[in-house]
Amino acid sequence: MGSSPCICVEHWSVPSIDINKVNVDASVTSEPASAPSERGKLESHAGEPSWTTPDCRKPEETVSRIPIAREVGVLDEYLLILLLKIGLLQTHKKWLFVSSVLYFAVPSFILGRFNRARAANLTLPHHVCQTPLFMPVGTQGTIKGLATNQLEDIGCQIILGNTYHLALRPTSELIDELGGLHKFMNWPRALLTDSGGFQMVILRYLMHFVVSLLHLADITEKGVTFQSPVDGKPMLLTPEESIQIQNRIGADIIMALDDVVKTTITGPRIEEAMYRTLRWIDRCIAAHKRPKEQNLFGIVQGGLDPVLRDICVRGLVDRNLPGYAIGGLAGGEDKDSFWRVVAQCTAALPEDKPRYVMGVGYPLDIVVCSALGADMYDCVYPTRTARFGTALIPEGVLKLKNKAMADDTRPIDPTCDCMVCKNYSRAYIHCLVTVDAMGSQLVSYHNLYYMMKLSRDLHSSIIEGKFPEFVCEFLQTMFPKGDVPEWVCNAMEVAGIDISSCSHHVVR
Ligand SMILES: [Zn+2]
Repeated sequence: MGSSPCICVEHWSVPSIDINKVNVDASVTSEPASAPSERGKLESHAGEPSWTTPDCRKPEETVSRIPIAREVGVLDEYLLILLLKIGLLQTHKKWLFVSSVLYFAVPSFILGRFNRARAANLTLPHHVCQTPLFMPVGTQGTIKGLATNQLEDIGCQIILGNTYHLALRPTSELIDELGGLHKFMNWPRALLTDSGGFQMVILRYLMHFVVSLLHLADITEKGVTFQSPVDGKPMLLTPEESIQIQNRIGADIIMALDDVVKTTITGPRIEEAMYRTLRWIDRCIAAHKRPKEQNLFGIVQGGLDPVLRDICVRGLVDRNLPGYAIGGLAGGEDKDSFWRVVAQCTAALPEDKPRYVMGVGYPLDIVVCSALGADMYDCVYPTRTARFGTALIPEGVLKLKNKAMADDTRPIDPTCDCMVCKNYSRAYIHCLVTVDAMGSQLVSYHNLYYMMKLSRDLHSSIIEGKFPEFVCEFLQTMFPKGDVPEWVCNAMEVAGIDISSCSHHVVR
């Protein structure tokens, strides 16, 4: 405690090429719970780049029916409305790319470390972001209820835009004609767009959940396919088309199209999806027409199988991409499996490139993942839960709909410096939540402020060498009885963070 930052070099070294040693060290990972039968087959590829194996390179025309990729809870309430507006993606055959090289985007520069945790400057074309960072999700080019100048006031550095929704409305062609998404939404800082595939899969799921429960999304070697709920017309999003759309939208970071599967399923489908993701990354790279203006991130898949995760990491790292995402998590897997996958991937990914854990948004998860060496996160949780009247506070959450709030004159969080906590009482917001749009706006503002402050605190505590103290204070406030979840204790042990002063758990 209080000592200067400790840098454990062995945590940052490139993992052994031996496919049997897929983890940082023996303490990180237990035996994989799934797909042991694939291990023998995979071992035969040891010693050569995994993505060049015949299994990987041979395109497969099999059609896989896959269940929902992540929890339906990430959907916005406007999703059903958008189901009626599908039908434009296949018309995007026109390529309006204008070759205008501005400058190279510099991936990242590490400013400070504490064991595996790092604080960095992520220099993007539109903003220099400080990591660890949280990205609010602006589905339709907006964070619901908040103006872009408010987002700047809160301290947002980068916003995530959903390619799928933007491609439907107003369309990527129109965004391109109007000068790109930054100009269109009047957002001067950084933007990231997803591939659009995840939304297609999840919309497909929802559509059939509502209509028939019979058919789910189809993934073929060509791309993600589904039927339009409007006219039944087959729709297809290929890796090339996803990149073309994202090139038109113009975000600082764009995501490769990956084959997403639910982490809790087991068997050959996980392996198939991982290899297909590796095949698709080459198609994404080939289709990317603005590599000097937009940073293409690859996505590590492989479910909960450390062998498959390792193959995917090494296959992507071989492509020397500007950044890497850890995908397929936050989909209902147990927390112990979750952090072990994060720990494995962050240890194997290059230390000079940003690491983005997709779909992760609970404050506790972000603290744990940052301790394990992750840099970027996104989730609809802070704004979505705000619309249901739940505020994020250091102790956990505050349900503003509760009757106890009706005459509570305190702010949401007395320790918070945000505009909402300075000006409004819990009692006032209690009257508004889920009744008036102002209620969700105020709570969204506070919740995003909380997430931005959490990001800043992570960044500064790592740089100042006070990361363990920050983690302990965070856990002590959230778990005042010392009942820190065991998975958190296990993860912190691997991260080299001593939390014995705030936790009753005795790890091993
Ligand atoms: Zn506040």
